[in-house]
Amino acid sequence: MGMIDINEALNLVLRNLPERRTEILRFDTALGCVLAEDLIATSNLPPFRRSAKDGYAVRASDVQKVPVELKIVGESRAGDKSAGLVHKGEAIAIMTGAVVPEGADAIQMIEYTERSADGSRVTIKASVKPGEDIAPIGADVKLGKIAIEAGRMIGPVEIAVMASFGYRSVKVWRKPSVAILATGNELVGVDETPAEMQIRNSNTYSISSQLRLMGWKAAHLGIARDEIRDLRRKIKLGLKKDVLIITGGVSMGKYDLVKDVFRDLGLEVLFSKVAMKPGKPTVFARFGDKLIFGLPGNPVSSFMAFENFVRPALEKLAGQDKPGLFKIRGELQRELKQNPGRTSFLPAWATWSEDKWRIEPLKWKGSPDIFRFSRANAAIIFPADCDRLKSEEIVECVLFPDFFVRRR
Ligand code: AMP
Ligand code: MG
Repeated sequence: MGMIDINEALNLVLRNLPERRTEILRFDTALGCVLAEDLIATSNLPPFRRSAKDGYAVRASDVQKVPVELKIVGESRAGDKSAGLVHKGEAIAIMTGAVVPEGADAIQMIEYTERSADGSRVTIKASVKPGEDIAPIGADVKLGKIAIEAGRMIGPVEIAVMASFGYRSVKVWRKPSVAILATGNELVGVDETPAEMQIRNSNTYSISSQLRLMGWKAAHLGIARDEIRDLRRKIKLGLKKDVLIITGGVSMGKYDLVKDVFRDLGLEVLFSKVAMKPGKPTVFARFGDKLIFGLPGNPVSSFMAFENFVRPALEKLAGQDKPGLFKIRGELQRELKQNPGRTSFLPAWATWSEDKWRIEPLKWKGSPDIFRFSRANAAIIFPADCDRLKSEEIVECVLFPDFFVRRR
């Protein structure tokens, strides 16, 4: 199987996903999920004529000539039943969110009024138009209309809409279950002290964190030795989940055995080499309805391969119609060179200043170098067919998933 273009690889992933499934979730745990049904307004909103201001409910015709003094005949607080009737020459004190009493057809804000010392009368100092600061019944949404349409990503404000209409549970696209398996004889757990030829497993944690930022949880399958038997056993365990993410053991080395085990187990490998840097030996396979990603072991490779393939796959499975990376175009601050042939991802710091994105490449030492890479908030996409990006050239850049909360 030859090396394929990065876009071709992404298309293969997106075209080979199993059918999506739905699930019912409590509305306030559905944050970050995509809605799989239309939500209908179960009532008018507002359900009553609602005051938008603190002030006085008046008859607009009474306050055309100002100042004018009106008799205060009651008070309407939010949560109270309608407070009687406003006749000609009268006003009712009213609060934001309260029922506008019958007879009144406008609200004058408290700022343009003055109450008499004994509290029985109010002087209205500015006129109002009929309807002013009154939200009629159903002004926001009418009963029976679609309040949130299927396909919408549920954010905090959608959760508020659901609460408003009493949707205690909603149907969303299910987030498939995911397992993560690290491989390598040199790896030890975070709690262990590595011997001189060992290192700690870090990929499991960067991947589970990438997943967490997407609102996803993953099962940790630990570390497999570079041996057929151990790999086979742990990969089989991983296949109990919908998606298995493996890191390491997919390159050309004598002990990179992951693909051999895939073959043994009868997995259908759709690609195993992508023209990208880092991330060339990325493998994508299927086993019935299960998806398996084999990501290269170098920490930056695993991070970037996840962003390029795993993220869009999971997003699409979870109901997003336009999955993919968050990209911007901006002005490169320094010249870059490469040997053409593969699409490269280079660490950068992207900032918006003086009306444009500015993209400053960061120095680094390649795919094992998470230390320098951790200072980036974005990666420059260096096109495969190009050997030089000039300073001030407009280049494309992928934003990291936590871009908007990273500061320098
Ligand atoms: P591999 O893809 O297995 O050839 O590994 C490439 C490089 O990444 C090697 O230097 C490994 O030690 C390192 N590596 C592999 N897996 C991990 C991991 N889970 N955490 C940190 N480094 C890793
Ligand atoms: Mg290895």
